[in-house]
Amino acid sequence: MSVVGIDVGFQNCYIAVARSGGIETIANEYSDRCTPAWVSLASKNRTIGNAAKGQIITNFKNTVHGFKKFHGRAFDDPYVQGEKPKLPYSLHKLASGNTGIKVPSFFTDAERRSVMDSTQIAGLNCLRLINDTTAVALAYGIYKQDLPTPDEKPRNVVFVDLGHSSFQVSISAFNKGKLKVLATAFDPYLGGRNFDEVLVEHFCEEFKARYKLNVRENPRAILRLSQECEKLKKLMSANCSDLPINIECFMNDIDVTGKMNRVQFEELCAPFLMRVEAPLKAVIEQSKLSRDEIYAVEVVGGATRIPSIKERIAKFFGKDVSTTLNADEAVARGCALQCA
Ligand code: ATP
Ligand code: MG
Repeated sequence: MSVVGIDVGFQNCYIAVARSGGIETIANEYSDRCTPAWVSLASKNRTIGNAAKGQIITNFKNTVHGFKKFHGRAFDDPYVQGEKPKLPYSLHKLASGNTGIKVPSFFTDAERRSVMDSTQIAGLNCLRLINDTTAVALAYGIYKQDLPTPDEKPRNVVFVDLGHSSFQVSISAFNKGKLKVLATAFDPYLGGRNFDEVLVEHFCEEFKARYKLNVRENPRAILRLSQECEKLKKLMSANCSDLPINIECFMNDIDVTGKMNRVQFEELCAPFLMRVEAPLKAVIEQSKLSRDEIYAVEVVGGATRIPSIKERIAKFFGKDVSTTLNADEAVARGCALQCA
C-alpha cells in the first residue's frame, strides 16, 4: 500500500508519494508537479488544476480559486466579507451560516439524484440522464444526411430551448457520426410561465379596479385566471389583434371580461424579453465562434413560439431561426436515440 501526502494550498497543490526508495512528488497530467488550486464547473463536467485555470476567461463565474480560507468560515466573517468584492465568482451564505460559492450548474446533483429515485419508484430502469440541450442536438444530428465528413470543417448549430420554466442555449459542432457540444448557457428562471404571470398580474389589477374583486385572495380564481391567461398568451402568438378574455362566474357570481393585444403584451413583458439576450451572448462567447460561423439557429420549446422571442433570437444571430425539429418532442426523441 502506498501513502501519499497532499499539500492543499491557497494557490497550488502538491502530492507526494512515499515509496521504498524515498519520497517522490508526483506529476499531474501536464507533467507538472504543481497543480493550481482551481476548479471549474461546466454544465456537463468539472475540471481541476491547469485545465480549470484555462477556463477563467470563458467561464469566470463558475471557475473558483482562492477558496481555501473559506472552508468552514462563516459568511459574516470579516475576512470573507473583505474578499467578496474581489472575486469573479459569487459567495453566498449557507443555511449553516458558513460560506458557499454559487455556481449556476443547471441541474444540481441532488436534483439529478431525485429524478433517478423517481424512475425507480416508477419501476423504470433508467439507463442515462441526459441534459435537454444534448438530447436536442442528438435529435438534430441523426436525420441530417448532408453533414460534413469527419475531416471537413464541422457544422455549428445553435439550439435554443425556451420551455415553461427555463431557458437553455447550446452550440454543437456536427460532422457525420460526430457531435461535440461546444458551449451551453442558461437562464434557469426564464420561461413561459413568467409571461403567464405577467398577464395574471395585469388582470388582477384590472379586475380589482373594474369589479372590486380581490382575486389574489382566492386560490381557485387565480388558478382559473392563470389557465385563461396561458390560452390568451398562445393566441397572441398567432394574432396581432385585440383578443378577449372572458370568465363566467369568476368570483361572487360576477362574469369578468378583458382584452389584450400583442403590442400591449410585449410592453408588459419587456423585463422578461430583455433577458433573452444574455444567454445567447454567453454561449457565443464561450464557443469562441463568430456569428458567421453559425450554420443555423434551431429553436425548440413551446415558448419560442412567442413572435418577439423568435425575433430577438434571429436579430442576435443575424439569421432567421429554423424550426427543423419538433419543438415539443425534440428532447424526448433525442433521449430515445441515445439509448436505442
Ligand atoms: P422546461 O423546459 O422549462 O422544463 P417544458 O419542457 O415543460 O418546460 P415546453 O413544453 O417546451 O416546456 O413549453 C411549454 C411552454 O410553452 C408553456 O409556457 C406554454 O404556455 C408555452 N407555449 C406553448 N405554445 C405556445 C404558443 N403558441 N405561444 C406562446 N407560448 C406557448
Ligand atoms: Mg423542456
